[in-house]
Amino acid sequence: MNNKYIEKPTDSQLDFIAKLQKESESSSGACSICKGAGGWTNELGQYTFCECEKEKMFMAKCTKANIPYKNLGKSLEEHWNLRQDVWGNNLSQNALDKKADIKKLVERYTKVLPAIIAGNPLKIKPRVGNAINLTSLLFQGGQWSGKSLLCTLIAQEGVRRNLTVEYVDWSELYSDLSGFENRDKQNDWADIFGSKDLIILDGVDFYDVRNPSFVIQLDRIARARARCGKPIIITAYPGYEKIEAGHGWSSLLASCFKVTLPTPEPPKPYAS
Ligand SMILES: [Zn+2]
Repeated sequence: MNNKYIEKPTDSQLDFIAKLQKESESSSGACSICKGAGGWTNELGQYTFCECEKEKMFMAKCTKANIPYKNLGKSLEEHWNLRQDVWGNNLSQNALDKKADIKKLVERYTKVLPAIIAGNPLKIKPRVGNAINLTSLLFQGGQWSGKSLLCTLIAQEGVRRNLTVEYVDWSELYSDLSGFENRDKQNDWADIFGSKDLIILDGVDFYDVRNPSFVIQLDRIARARARCGKPIIITAYPGYEKIEAGHGWSSLLASCFKVTLPTPEPPKPYAS
């Protein structure tokens, strides 16, 4: 540094600096309603959170629940596309009907989620047959069928309702449950599956690997979930039925209401 001295800024320079600071604050996203304070106290001394602060708290809870960022904040109304598939091709009538049914189901399901968790299943009347008591859901579909989007839509709705939610990525769970040396992580998973209000298990996939530790631990956490009686949302790739993990796992799967998602065909360059 070779500055010998710094001159005191003039009043007009100070004004200019203050103006710059204000501009940088507003461009960095300070809220125009609360000016970044996050809330206010009214004349009765009651504190009110600003909408911007509520949004921040919501995002923090979603992060804590491990909901992936990718689809966060999306909505069924806007993002569950009833016209086109992910490649921009128009849906067939069959796919459209299915997706419309799934939309209705997810809307009804999320609406009564707290009641389901309290032990009152959603009653649905299929076109044929008897009414079904529905607690848990299993969406089966291939790549690009919208499994993760549905998972996030349901998970974030749970967070909005102040439920304890855990979003679980199958490949991470698989790696934690494999091997006999991951004792602590495996105990954590058993606690999580035995206690959270809502578990979202996304992307269940069959790996053709012999893995005794995984078989035992998956059965263990499935039993923990079944015992606590709270719902689980599972999404799975075709072929998931080949996973063998004891009666706890198979009865957890059997307790889910199964929905098949229309899986779009990828465009030619991707097809093998
Ligand atoms: Zn604000």
